[in-house]
Amino acid sequence: MTVIYPESLQLNDELRAPDMLLEEADRFHRLHAGRHITVFICPDWSTAYRVLPRLARRGIGAITLATGNAIYLLPTIAERGLDPVEFVRHELSHAVLHQNQGLLDAVRFVEVQWLAEGLAVWFGRQRAYITDEEFRRLAPSRDLAAYIDPALRDRLPGPFDIRFGYVCWKHFNAFLEARDPDRYWGYGHAATQDPRQWRRLFDQHFQQSFESAISAFAQQAPRDASAAVPILPAAAAPAPHKHPSR
Ligand SMILES: [Zn+2]
Repeated sequence: MTVIYPESLQLNDELRAPDMLLEEADRFHRLHAGRHITVFICPDWSTAYRVLPRLARRGIGAITLATGNAIYLLPTIAERGLDPVEFVRHELSHAVLHQNQGLLDAVRFVEVQWLAEGLAVWFGRQRAYITDEEFRRLAPSRDLAAYIDPALRDRLPGPFDIRFGYVCWKHFNAFLEARDPDRYWGYGHAATQDPRQWRRLFDQHFQQSFESAISAFAQQAPRDASAAVPILPAAAAPAPHKHPSR
């Protein structure tokens, strides 16, 4: 993995040794990203618009191509004083999964937001949205099912609060993983291969409907601190295995 950055930028230590981040991403996702990844930190908007025509937009922090081999950090991150490391981690989650799926499936998979973004925010250890404490405080008064299940989103009384949504998705993924890690990753990998069937695959892998898993989560989320499962420490993590590609 290579990080290309403007000379004016003081690069964080984590980004000076990016292969360690990539190894951690492989271990976390139980997959292997075999193709080289380039992270390009755009120095300014004119460069961003030039290298990412049509994709670069103000307000967006970072973009990963569906090929999973290029990650772009946009100037939004520097402008807002956000942490580039958490954004690289977030995008690495997308990249590792994308390298293990077809192009079309990569595009479809990120549309399954509770899963694709939940994983990315979780692996990203992101603090850019709301804190876990805020989530637990807000959860009892929010319609968690409407935040998680895309089919129920219309029932939200107001606009979709993306800062809450991201963190809610993270906790839901962590909740599923904590109950049965092998089942969870079996499901996650199957969903990367056939994203349009994510709901049917959920029933199949968890032997539970998506709806009832969400209600179990909603009962537990506001009070159970363990919903925020930490990132696996390197030493305790299982060895990565190559996911069969089609
Ligand atoms: Zn994302």
